[in-house]
Amino acid sequence: MNIERQKKIAERRAQIPRAYRATYNRAVKGKSLRAAVNAQCLMCCCWQRDEVRNCTDLACPLYAVRPYQIPQNSQNGGFSGAELKKQGKGDKLCQIKRKCSV
Ligand code: SF4
Repeated sequence: MNIERQKKIAERRAQIPRAYRATYNRAVKGKSLRAAVNAQCLMCCCWQRDEVRNCTDLACPLYAVRPYQIPQNSQNGGFSGAELKKQGKGDKLCQIKRKCSV
């Protein structure tokens, strides 16, 4: 990687929220097309994952493969297992507790 590109990448990385820097790093290394798509969509939406999920540019080439989409048969609002766990909704004990407290 040439010096000029390294400099531009460092400048861009400094503007990215910490949570997404690893995705950006994988993308710019050219080793992961998934990371490249995820980083591009996040960058397009100012690093707001809900904006990516609700993207309205139906003609964008990345639309069909953008991250954070709500699966058509979703029963959990489109959140991944990790996201649900962060919200305290993912593990079985939390689900049982919620059912029992109703
Ligand atoms: S699919 Fe949507 S979020 Fe992703 S790059 Fe295209 S317009 Fe941006």
